[in-house]
Amino acid sequence: MPDTNTRENGHGLRTPIVAVLGHVDHGKTSLLDKIRGSTVIEGEAGAITQHIGATAIPLDVVSKVAGSLIDPSDFDLPGLLFIDTPGHHSFTTLRSRGGALADIAILVVDVNDGFQPQTLEAINILKQSQTPFVVAANKIDTVPGWKPNEDAPVQQTKEAQSDRASSMLDEQLYEIIGELSDEGFSADMYWRVQDFRGNIGVVPVSAETGEGIPDLLTVLMGLAQRYMKEDMAIDVTGPGAGTVLEVKEEKGFGTTLDVVLYDGTIREDETIVVGGLDEPIVTDVRAILKPRPLAEIRTEDRFEKVEEIAAASGVKIAAPGLDDAMAGAPVRVVRDRDIEEVIAEVRAELSEIEVETQEQ
Ligand code: GDP
Repeated sequence: MPDTNTRENGHGLRTPIVAVLGHVDHGKTSLLDKIRGSTVIEGEAGAITQHIGATAIPLDVVSKVAGSLIDPSDFDLPGLLFIDTPGHHSFTTLRSRGGALADIAILVVDVNDGFQPQTLEAINILKQSQTPFVVAANKIDTVPGWKPNEDAPVQQTKEAQSDRASSMLDEQLYEIIGELSDEGFSADMYWRVQDFRGNIGVVPVSAETGEGIPDLLTVLMGLAQRYMKEDMAIDVTGPGAGTVLEVKEEKGFGTTLDVVLYDGTIREDETIVVGGLDEPIVTDVRAILKPRPLAEIRTEDRFEKVEEIAAASGVKIAAPGLDDAMAGAPVRVVRDRDIEEVIAEVRAELSEIEVETQEQ
């Protein structure tokens, strides 16, 4: 799967997993749609790969969208994997080995509305899980007198605005920077941030016009490359580890799991251990399914079987006995390990999740 990882003797760098958070109606869904839309480059079908529950944007596509903002030779991470379901619930239920499943987050804030209750909630979740994030200051196209420049880098479009529109936007952005500071974060416009570990970058965007999307992808890619490369180094061919996004009934397959795989590989016929309602479930993978490319979709045949898949990716797993599997639960490939050990690992992780659910 060269689109989601790079390999060298089993070792490789996986795609960082990105989640989107923010207050209701601030534009989380629109932003994800825009990112997906702007990365489907005309005449280049397959530029982005649709996964189950996630969308992968390979580096060469990020680089096309970002244009002069990015020099692709500065990067060796393979791209970005966006979780398709935005929001706090999915962020908090989706965990990996005690931490957040997402490696980076985008906190969406409507420039007109500023911080709202769910923005603060999201900030607290990000603080607790120590997830690095950037702020997408969204809806810049609604600034009075704004003249949109579709899909343009933000500084370019900002310079093309009237002084009045540009300074109105600045005012709104400084308010957001102030609100971040009230929450204990040092923040600035992203182009002024030198060290993204100590400072939050604010990226003005419009999910409507695509302005600032090149910048947002550039910042995410840069942040991941600079500060997360070590975490992204995995044994790509090792036994797979993932998290259940959803448990779903699927015609012809029975109960299936939508899984985000964040480590190793998973292969057809392998034994897996999955977190269940009462006890870990031990079962054998009957099929690994990916969405069929849009152009090839025939009714009744939405999925395509693959023999194996490597992290990071979103896949559907069909296997017997999955009725008691739970969203948020861990999935582990046993392979050449002691099955009892793997069961114990899954059980330990499950009890951690349950304790936290009770605390909430
Ligand atoms: P969510 O609840 O955070 O997922 O927000 P949505 O993506 O559903 O967006 C809420 C509303 O804001 C919808 O009517 C969107 O069309 C609108 N919206 C989102 N982003 C923008 C933007 O950048 N500009 C404008 N003008 N409207 C936007």
